Amino acid sequence: MKIEQSLNNIKQSLPENVTLVAVSKTKPVADLMEAYEAGQRIFGENKVQEMTDKWEQMPKDIQWHMIGHVQTNKVKYMAPFVSLIHGVDSLKLLKEVNKQAKKNDRVIDCLLQMHIADEETKFGMDEQELSDLLNSEVFTQMENVKVKGLMGMATFTEDTAQIKQEFTALKNIFDKLKEKPTTKNFEPDTLSMGMSGDYEIAVTCGSNMVRIGSSIFGARQYNK
Ligand SMILES: *Cc1c(COP(=O)(O)O)cnc(C)c1O
Repeated sequence: MKIEQSLNNIKQSLPENVTLVAVSKTKPVADLMEAYEAGQRIFGENKVQEMTDKWEQMPKDIQWHMIGHVQTNKVKYMAPFVSLIHGVDSLKLLKEVNKQAKKNDRVIDCLLQMHIADEETKFGMDEQELSDLLNSEVFTQMENVKVKGLMGMATFTEDTAQIKQEFTALKNIFDKLKEKPTTKNFEPDTLSMGMSGDYEIAVTCGSNMVRIGSSIFGARQYNK
């Protein structure tokens, strides 16, 4: 199916309050431009170098989301332009984002990644680590980041009951977070969960941001 058509189909299936991040990792700029021409303005990438290359080549009204695991030493390359970092999972990384944002005279929006899957391989924090981070003195002093919510990935499984359970657990943590008083650097309103295989379940469970790649752009090939 054409990119434009797939994109429109997905957009039509999403409730109005759900933001679509078009995950374009590994795809050529020509493919991204097709989505851009069809109206898409939010793109998600998981490698800093690739995202930076695409940012340089593409129209400047695009919002670039970093959805992958970020190494601290790479933050500086995206700090001038990144619009949302989904995968922040440590105070150390948040500190570096704050430092690089300050150098660029910006405030960078971040989501904290939670570990909800029963897989060791997926990154993210547990509830204790989340609360330690948010309650730390270091975090309260940060002026160049803003925590906008949470992100999580469900287990890669056919078991939809399990996926639903994991997304629901994340939604509950998110709801608790929203009860906390907001501050200058803490204003949670975004719950990023759901990808091509499970976004419909995620939306049912209360997601308001989905990250969809292969259902828009087709399957990815990594053996380049
Ligand atoms: C690749 C990726 C996606 C999109 O995956 P699809 O299955 O292609 O939709 C979403 N979120 C993260 C964190 C990813 O790395």
